[in-house]
Amino acid sequence: QRLVSPAARGEDEALDRALRPRRLAEYIGQGPVREQLEIFIGAARMRGEALDHVLIFGPPGLGKTTLARVIANELGVGLRQTAGPVLERPGDLAALLTNLEPRDVLFVDEIHRLSPQVEEVLYPAMEDYQLDIVIGEGPAARSIKLDLPPFTLVGATTRAGLLTSPLRDRFGIVQRLEFYDVEELAAIVARSARILGVELSTEGAREIAARARGTPRIANRLLRRVRDYAQVRGDGRIDAATAAAALDLLKVDRSGFDGMDRRLLRTIIDKFDGGPVGIDSLAAALGEERGTLEDVIEPYLIQQGYLVRTARGRMATRLAYAHFGLAPPRPDPP
Ligand code: ADP
Repeated sequence: QRLVSPAARGEDEALDRALRPRRLAEYIGQGPVREQLEIFIGAARMRGEALDHVLIFGPPGLGKTTLARVIANELGVGLRQTAGPVLERPGDLAALLTNLEPRDVLFVDEIHRLSPQVEEVLYPAMEDYQLDIVIGEGPAARSIKLDLPPFTLVGATTRAGLLTSPLRDRFGIVQRLEFYDVEELAAIVARSARILGVELSTEGAREIAARARGTPRIANRLLRRVRDYAQVRGDGRIDAATAAAALDLLKVDRSGFDGMDRRLLRTIIDKFDGGPVGIDSLAAALGEERGTLEDVIEPYLIQQGYLVRTARGRMATRLAYAHFGLAPPRPDPP
């Protein structure tokens, strides 16, 4: 498991919970999302109605779960949480839906992983607050219809493209979370440090933020590791030098790369002359699964412009050469 992985790891759970903002005003960054939600939530509250269903998409660790909880808090209603793969049968969803109080939020994480049968039950529930399920099997099977209280479904997904269109069409509000810039991440780390009772300078916060790959969960995880370092090697206070020394020791560099990122880029540069190299040859050269490269390592490198996917394969960009202090080859890479 990588220190810079954006997905939650076991150790993150307690920290995630402790550091989660509860109100919209504490939710840092994502300006346009916040502004729109403020209006929609305010309007729903004034009318005393359930908020329209909300779909939130974006990479892991950017604050989707946090936002779902903030929405419920701001609406002043309860929240039930589940996840696509957990809802195996229609009955699992029916049990949740029939236990909602009026205007409650039902949060479904990884909503792209719902089974087709469960999705079928969700459509009338979302559209008309109607539960329509078949119980029993064969000749004894009966279909039952129930009225549900008005509720708000908040769905989260990392892969908007995997949602079926009938499901996507049933969300009135669709919000996309973006990677955070260094200033925003520095503000998030500073807030976390206050909650954890750690003394952190402005420059220290920026140093951690710069290496956090645009992702609050990674920023908070790095803060925790730097805090350990500062306690053992220093006096517990974190300034820029302490943060840099700790993160260097952990091998997270100034671009937020870890050993895997560097190895991938260096392999393309050193063994394949910068590319293009096919994904399977690259995976073989690195001794990694192709899926790991595609899902875990490449997205950040591509998003940051160090790597490009072309029809003929992967290529290291000029930025990648510059990162290692190397002169780019001729002809000029992308
Ligand atoms: P996701 O559900 O997208 O994987 P989470 O909502 O669990 O991400 O967020 C991960 C952690 O990052 C949370 O515990 C929270 O402390 C922090 N976080 C996320 N977004 C923000 C934000 N906008 N402001 C402050 N902290 C945030």
